Amino acid sequence: MAQLSDDCFAFGGALMPVDAALVLIAERFEPVAEQEVVPLSRADRRVLAEDVLSPMALPPFANSAVDGYAVRHLDLAPQGSTKLPLRGRVAAGGAANGLTAQGVAVRVFTGAPLPDDADTVFMQEDVVPTPSHVILPPGLRRGANLRHAGEDVAKGAILLPAGRRMKPQDVALAAAVGLSSIPVRRRLKVALFSTGDELAEPGQPLPNGAIYDSNRLLLSSLLQRFGAEVSDLGILRDDRSDLATHLATAARAHDLILTSGGVSTGEEDHVKAAVEAVGKLVFWRLAIKPGRPVAMGMINGVPFAGLPGNPVAVFVTFSHVVRPLLARLSGMKLAPPECFKVRSAFSYQKKPGRREYARVTLRTSSDGSVEAVKHPREGAGILTSLTETDGLAELPEDISAVAPGDIIGFLPYAMIW
Ligand code: AMP
Ligand code: MG
Repeated sequence: MAQLSDDCFAFGGALMPVDAALVLIAERFEPVAEQEVVPLSRADRRVLAEDVLSPMALPPFANSAVDGYAVRHLDLAPQGSTKLPLRGRVAAGGAANGLTAQGVAVRVFTGAPLPDDADTVFMQEDVVPTPSHVILPPGLRRGANLRHAGEDVAKGAILLPAGRRMKPQDVALAAAVGLSSIPVRRRLKVALFSTGDELAEPGQPLPNGAIYDSNRLLLSSLLQRFGAEVSDLGILRDDRSDLATHLATAARAHDLILTSGGVSTGEEDHVKAAVEAVGKLVFWRLAIKPGRPVAMGMINGVPFAGLPGNPVAVFVTFSHVVRPLLARLSGMKLAPPECFKVRSAFSYQKKPGRREYARVTLRTSSDGSVEAVKHPREGAGILTSLTETDGLAELPEDISAVAPGDIIGFLPYAMIW
């Protein structure tokens, strides 16, 4: 892994734009190198380590797309209907075995191989059958209702590219060309801590002045959705040397260390100093709201990401900073999430130079257009502002206000995951 330099501090005390942080992530961190071969039954969400080429054409042979009658288009009358004698029958899984469609109609079923010379299939609903013949209506184009060999995938074509995170439909495609396993990168092992003297474990009594730790479950759920293996390492107290010890230990057996809390500039925020004691920071303040303090660094060659404490800030910074980091480490090619354009139903003042995310719900307005309604509560600690909304409105660096009727970018929560 490349040695980190200190040039990130070229930003001085200023906040780093999110896009600059993403460039640093791409430059400073490398994907895990180890690969393994997994059966398709366990391939969903895994990241392809290599291009997968198709060992065969798909479909492997020309076949009927419907239940019906295969014919040679040349045998059809130029005008009016055509009566052809019925000869032969091929079902899916059967063989056309020398059958020809010359001058006749062959009974075929969906998926059946086509007889020789057949180039068109009539749907059974469209024809009038008699015991010995079929009467075919006029107007069907040549090539109708059949599937050509290789029309889906050509033999040797790139079926799925390296860096793709497998989706259920990708698994189906690999199975359709006869593969039973694929080469993937090793799953990421992520060490997860919460930090804060005020935190208590859900299920335990709540001491005076304490709150339950919700960030760890938020983050472990998000990480698992991403396909990472999570080591839940509990709650760390607000103590610099204790933090440093635990971070250094976690760096021995993980690909990423993730914490929340303790990264602001308060007297009880020791995470940044702990990272500097056992590793190096790459950046620690971003021009993003909610979420400004986000520390990213390296501890003994292992990437570290320290998220803020407030749950909404955790959610937003995970989505826009940790997710690209996870993608980079897992070797995944991840396009930035594409915002949908929707109409704003709210007004909002923001600081130029900073990217802000508002939690919004979509509704259909009277003219049929989709508009975004901002959650009434803005606080970065208001968890219900996440549970009661549909996604995030992305308000870019260069704007200073949003007015009702403005077109804004909307990211559904489902698209971030
Ligand atoms: P901090 O950045 O540590 O000052 O935390 C900011 C706010 O987030 C404080 O109100 C913390 O109590 C809260 N917070 C920190 N960690 C957690 C957590 N794991 N779960 C819920 N709230 C937290
Ligand atoms: Mg704290």
